[in-house]
Amino acid sequence: FVPVILHFIYSATTPYTTLPSVLLVGPSGAGKTALLTLFERGPLYRPDQPSSPDKPSVAAPVAQTRTSQASSTVELAVGTSNNTTAGNGGGGAHSSFRTDLDAVGATAKKFLLVDTPGHPKLRAHALAHLASASASGTIRPASVSVTKSSSATEQNKSKLKALLFVVDAAALAEGADGPALAASAEYLYDVLLTLQRRLRRGGGSRAPPSVPVLVAANKLDLFTALPAPLVKSQLEAEIGRIRKARSKGLLDSGAADDGDVVGPGGGEEADSWLGSYGSDKFSFKEMLEFDIEVDVIGGNVLGEGPGADKWWNWIGERI
Ligand code: GDP
Repeated sequence: FVPVILHFIYSATTPYTTLPSVLLVGPSGAGKTALLTLFERGPLYRPDQPSSPDKPSVAAPVAQTRTSQASSTVELAVGTSNNTTAGNGGGGAHSSFRTDLDAVGATAKKFLLVDTPGHPKLRAHALAHLASASASGTIRPASVSVTKSSSATEQNKSKLKALLFVVDAAALAEGADGPALAASAEYLYDVLLTLQRRLRRGGGSRAPPSVPVLVAANKLDLFTALPAPLVKSQLEAEIGRIRKARSKGLLDSGAADDGDVVGPGGGEEADSWLGSYGSDKFSFKEMLEFDIEVDVIGGNVLGEGPGADKWWNWIGERI
């Protein structure tokens, strides 16, 4: 296991043509923009650290909820190196994405982090990203991105490597009584079904590379927030309910009762069914049938808590 040194590089000029991309998805208010900003300007988020002329320290959150209807993209880099000089006293992962890879001479793997609007009316943007991911697994961030570096670089196709689905773990604590669980689960359901269909449609030898999903349970700095295992079980239960409601009639048609195994390439019913066809309770593990890995990891962008390092590591391992 090679420790992944985390880091960020923002570049307005790098002429890379096919950077891999990671899509940032989730309901409004979950913290996508805050996370993007944290990865982009890590040190700015450490008000406890001394400021320097080029990396001023700020006490207030940098991220603003954008009113823009477009996605934004930043270019980041994860380093893979044994050079741990940038760690803070063995804290390794703790300081990871704050590491200056140039300074430590590490080799970096660059990628694009593509933020998408969370508002329900604009979700088509995010899902279009996924649906349009062709058989080769590429997307075109340029089509909806507004960045400082929107140049020829982003006119090129980018390989979609992973998807981060950010949820507000504090809002989810309201459970089925609050609006957050239903909204988050519904969006996640749509995302997973889109990925599943993309894989099925790709079919055969031309099946697109699978896209792993990380459910980032954010805001764990808040004491009311649900821990990651509960976020996972709540989302699974709610997705199970949504699946049941949306597929009403699918199973009544008898396809499952006949003992027919409807595998990939099966009928329309199976195409609309998320996960293992006909199963009762939904679990993220079912998505492995479609080669879709789903992990749930807790963290926070602001405040005191586990931070965002585990998410960054997760990305680093999949880029
Ligand atoms: P987006 O709509 O998903 O892009 O969400 P934003 O990034 O705009 O964040 C929504 C709100 O949640 C903002 O007020 C953020 O400051 C706040 N927020 C984001 N991350 C955290 C976190 O880890 N902890 C806390 N307490 N608040 C957060």
